[in-house]
Amino acid sequence: MAKMWVCGEDRAAISGESFAVINPATEEVVDTVPRAQAVDVHVAVDAAARAFDGWRFVPGLEKAQLMHASARWMRDYQERLATLLTREGGKPLCENRDEVEWVAAVFDYYAEVGRDSIGRVIAPTQLDQFNCVLKEPYGVVACIVPWNYPLLLLAWKMAPALAAGNTLVIKPSEYTPLSTLMLMEAFRDYPDGVVNVVTGYGAEAGEPLVTDDRVRCVAFTGSVATGRRIATLAAQGLKKTTLEMGGNDPFIICDDVDVDIAVRGAAWAAFLNMGQVCTSAERFYVFRSIHGVFMEKLVAHTRSLRLGDPLQPGVDLGPMVSDNQRQKVERKISEAEAMGARTLTGGSRPAKFPKGYYLEPAVLDRVDHRMELMREETFGPVAPVMAVDGIDEAIRLANDSRYGLGANIYTNNLEYTMRAVHGIKAGTFWINDPLTDNDAGPFGGMRMSGIGRELGIEGLEEFRETKHVHMDYRIGPKPYWFPYK
Ligand code: NAD
Repeated sequence: MAKMWVCGEDRAAISGESFAVINPATEEVVDTVPRAQAVDVHVAVDAAARAFDGWRFVPGLEKAQLMHASARWMRDYQERLATLLTREGGKPLCENRDEVEWVAAVFDYYAEVGRDSIGRVIAPTQLDQFNCVLKEPYGVVACIVPWNYPLLLLAWKMAPALAAGNTLVIKPSEYTPLSTLMLMEAFRDYPDGVVNVVTGYGAEAGEPLVTDDRVRCVAFTGSVATGRRIATLAAQGLKKTTLEMGGNDPFIICDDVDVDIAVRGAAWAAFLNMGQVCTSAERFYVFRSIHGVFMEKLVAHTRSLRLGDPLQPGVDLGPMVSDNQRQKVERKISEAEAMGARTLTGGSRPAKFPKGYYLEPAVLDRVDHRMELMREETFGPVAPVMAVDGIDEAIRLANDSRYGLGANIYTNNLEYTMRAVHGIKAGTFWINDPLTDNDAGPFGGMRMSGIGRELGIEGLEEFRETKHVHMDYRIGPKPYWFPYK
């Protein structure tokens, strides 16, 4: 059995309870982990709270050296981490190798950005005065993470929060806790209690963490429903929150594009990690004049994708993370079909894989905005496509959503591009290159997709609070007005 990581030590749940982590490609048990209850969570928060006063004053250079060393460890153990990520989450191994490299890069990035500045000097209003703004850590930060990119989404919280001087209690998803526990080896040399991990089920372990008084900031990535619940709980303690939630990203394809190139981009954006990316393209709007040829090529390209054992080389798509998730996608497809949609390819369980949560990637047409498939996050390998009569209609439909995480356009037309960039509500806008991240580029959602940003300077500021310092460096009589004369 794997163990939790609390105050620099391996730890079982106080109750002794555990739960199994299942390999979604084989349905076999990978390992078991402790099932934390409130009492376990409070022990971890206690360790983080005790470590805070030491860690916050560790000089920036020393923190940066530790963080670079963590990044080196991750690169040294890239293959083992990636393999474990694949076994517990089902993403193809080559994608998980990338994930580990991105995690290391985030640590390198915040090691440097985090030691650059802890505030600014501002102009005083009077002679002999000095004013500055200090950026201070919150204290104990809760990091609550989903299963689709378990280490990357953790790193987007961990690295800036640590660089800012906070201490952490991490709660990974119940589907993918093992890679997070393995990652803790990268933090062995940090002072005890700076980084802690509790493993457990959603609300059972997550809510005691959010509501513990000593937790002053909650950084969450996951579904809208959980994010709203966390926001409600955190509001009782007036805690800082960053909420990275679901999306329903639109993808516009204009009539001036090379259709072969746009099709490859569309399939990548819809099906990468079986559509289980928060910024997966979830609905496509194609200019009517190229709609026919686009559909033909998208169907052919989708049929050429190789579904299989995610540990094997040459596999494009592995299984979905769970049977539950697969059933949700199947239900959405059949509801859309009942309302008139047509499935041109995919959407079935491949007979070739009797075990594992596999689903063939699907392309649908005859869809519209009455369907949940177009209105709500699907989080599966589905590409529903609508024909549109120009950029105005595409922008209007793209905005017809409660979400605002990402948006895409394929075009070389400057006017279409700029009208879409300014017209569509989205935290990230991709032009001719979907789903690409940049450590320096802030990432997050508008509308129901979230509050706050990860990555970039903005991602560091989320973990620091502001203190204004006012000083008069010549003590002397002041023109205070009372007692009244
Ligand atoms: P989820 O909301 O079910 O779970 C996310 C995490 O929250 C897990 O660790 C879970 O155990 C925990 N949790 C669940 N209930 C809780 C509660 N009441 N209190 C505290 N913690 C609780 O989401 P998921 O199914 O793991 O992930 C998929 C969702 O994540 C999708 O909606 C996807 O769009 C979203 N996501 C968003 C981003 C982003 O950056 N915006 C990135 C990846 C995934």
